[in-house]
Amino acid sequence: MIAELRLKRGKEESLDRFHPWVFSGALTQMPHDLEEGSLVRVVAADGRVMGVGHFQIGSIAVRMLDFADVEIDADFFAGRLRRAWQLRQSLGLLRPDNTAFRLVHGEGDFLPGLVVDVYGDTAVLQAHSVGMHYQRETLARCLVELPGAGLRNVYYKSETTLPFKARLDPVNDYLIGRADTDIALENGLRFRIDWLRGQKTGFFVDQRDNRSLLGRMAAGRRVLNMFCYTGGFSVYAMRGGAELVHSVDSSAKAVALTDANIELNFPGDTRHKAFAEDAFKYLDNTAAGVYDLIVLDPPAFAKHRSALRNALRGYQKLNAAGIAKVAPGGLVFTFSCSQAVSREQFRLAVFSAAAQTGRRVRILHQLTQPADHPVNIYHPEGEYLKGLVLYVE
Ligand code: SAH
Repeated sequence: MIAELRLKRGKEESLDRFHPWVFSGALTQMPHDLEEGSLVRVVAADGRVMGVGHFQIGSIAVRMLDFADVEIDADFFAGRLRRAWQLRQSLGLLRPDNTAFRLVHGEGDFLPGLVVDVYGDTAVLQAHSVGMHYQRETLARCLVELPGAGLRNVYYKSETTLPFKARLDPVNDYLIGRADTDIALENGLRFRIDWLRGQKTGFFVDQRDNRSLLGRMAAGRRVLNMFCYTGGFSVYAMRGGAELVHSVDSSAKAVALTDANIELNFPGDTRHKAFAEDAFKYLDNTAAGVYDLIVLDPPAFAKHRSALRNALRGYQKLNAAGIAKVAPGGLVFTFSCSQAVSREQFRLAVFSAAAQTGRRVRILHQLTQPADHPVNIYHPEGEYLKGLVLYVE
């Protein structure tokens, strides 16, 4: 028997439109003894069953798994994972020269609270909800049994993504197997991926298409890749024929990863140098006109709505520095991965930055997250990555 949660009158509307969250204020009463992560059935005021989901404590009370009264078992998860796999296959992402991609993007793959990134025969599983944490063993088994996928290892990495208050003390470790290589391919380029110690699942898969675009625009340019992390943009710039590539990250570990990835693809190539430094300081100390292409891909400045104003100021300051320093006829690839910052707000911050420099700036491309990070149209909150390619005169 699973617990039933009843909605207040009229509160079923968003569920009729397949929005996958139920807010606590929509429920008639908040259950006291219900354990976070339990399966619940959501019922409208008139008794109509609206679907099933995982219960959680906080303003989002239920994350819906299905909008019918279905059983949530291993077959359910296996089916969802098969659909996710088929989508990536149809997108042409599964190729011998491309073994890194996102298999599950939460609500965008009808699996709220779950992220799965694939690197070769290893899947890195990340739970963002207690419900998904409890399903980790089942999910891991479903992953290695996924027909035709050839996945052999599943690494669980949720120490920093689960609600702290739930006191689950999750441990990052392999649930199945153990990888014997940490190298994955993206569009024919090789990357060493550190899912054990790296940020997120070890790699920012979401910049793949934007890195490709940069690769096509990098020929003959002097490139500065700020916030380089694993050096993704730098490696594409090298392949694209950049004259020189400088990578900057405040973390020495990231700089070492970037150097390693450059060496993996372009051994002995002297066009590249990496610096462990603060991005703002580095730009301050850079003379104008030294670079013709600058990438600004900072961490999320606003993790929550409360930090929005400071975040927008941060984006403005960073972009003003980048736009001011790029050579005439240069390009700035600028990004925000803060979900709390809208596309319009980001563009406005970049507009203010451009105006502050007094230079002529045109937008050449408007960028977003790639197709293996799908946005459920009923859940616009799933859209987070925004980018602009600026042409600066
Ligand atoms: N562009 C990368 C992802 C960037 S993640 C990619 O394509 O994979 C953000 C990076 O910014 C992290 O590696 C972090 O170490 C770095 N960082 C955070 N604050 C910084 C600062 N003030 N100066 C320089 N780097 C910073």
